[in-house]
Amino acid sequence: SLTAGIVGLPNVGKSTLFNAITKAGAEMANYPFATIDPNVGMVEVPDHRLDRIQALIPAKKVVPTTFEFTDIAGIVKGASRGEGLGNKFLENIRQVDAIVHVVRAFDDPNITHVSDKVDPVADIETINLELTLADLEAVNKRIGKVTRAAKGSEEAQAELDVLNKIKPVLENDGAVRDIDFDEEETKIVKGLFLLTSKPVLYVANISDESMAHPEQDQYFQAVEKYANEHDAQAIGIAAESEEEIAELDDDDKAEFLAAAGVTEPGLDKLIRAAYKLLDLETFFTAGGKETKAWTFLRGTKAPQAAGIIHSDFERGFIRAEVMSFADLDKYESETAVKEAGKLRIEGKDYVMQDGDIVNFRFNV
Ligand code: GDP
Repeated sequence: SLTAGIVGLPNVGKSTLFNAITKAGAEMANYPFATIDPNVGMVEVPDHRLDRIQALIPAKKVVPTTFEFTDIAGIVKGASRGEGLGNKFLENIRQVDAIVHVVRAFDDPNITHVSDKVDPVADIETINLELTLADLEAVNKRIGKVTRAAKGSEEAQAELDVLNKIKPVLENDGAVRDIDFDEEETKIVKGLFLLTSKPVLYVANISDESMAHPEQDQYFQAVEKYANEHDAQAIGIAAESEEEIAELDDDDKAEFLAAAGVTEPGLDKLIRAAYKLLDLETFFTAGGKETKAWTFLRGTKAPQAAGIIHSDFERGFIRAEVMSFADLDKYESETAVKEAGKLRIEGKDYVMQDGDIVNFRFNV
């Protein structure tokens, strides 16, 4: 499954945030039997639609879908024998599908900042420069390899053209994600596995005082401005408080959040933002033994979506009976949706939509 890797300079709150994620994951009702990798934190994707579906089509059990974060710092620490830390760090980022870049946005004289000054945008630029330089090195190497081949091969020529489009941007400290590519180019870019082509979410680790209104925090404002200018997203989270919140039971949690003046944990915001960053969407199967949310990649067709549930469903796919969550919410029962003519029969070319409630029909 797709994963978002947590990166950032030392002492910005990465471990604190990852601990919050791990603790929230441990609270999951349907916690999977194994915490296989200590550097992977699995969390439920918060989705209010599940409560509404359960109210209208009651099932024995409700199962949210899950999402995985990877603690890159943790991996680097463990694997640093042998190779240089720098290379290992970059190699580990290469393995993830999106980057959650944590920066320090809180003042605290007791906690050393690596550059002695709280300046989240400077922090962002420090890490991004490393990623850009690594990409530039990779691009130059690749140009050296394909230049000769390009004389006799259209495919190699197409790759060379893309590389030559990327190179000057990197030389100007830019990122691959800043560049517009057409469909063909996009395919080539994907195959290059460049670090600055991965989607990124900047997480400003803000002070508790700013929790209720991150948009009023000057550090967060700076991070958000940077993100807006660089085709990226930003959110503000108070990592230390999130770690505390993650340990509370539901009642205490509600009390804590109300006292802090927020409606939901920052972690929920983070999970949803990371999910969106990866182009992930949700469909539901409802009623009976369990109502369940399933994750799919935007653009997935019905048979492949069925295959997410079980490979037999994909192999024997006949059709999908689909209603949108919006219609169920509006008509308030499956029967009413059907009577309104809103229950659709979809075939193998149907592109799944976020919020679809589906019943797959298949041959066994
Ligand atoms: P990492 O090196 O990026 O993993 O940073 P840590 O998560 O270990 O945090 C570094 C230090 O900053 C620790 O002493 C944390 O307790 C502290 N810290 C983390 N988040 C916050 C925060 O939101 N506010 C304050 N005041 N301290 C924090």
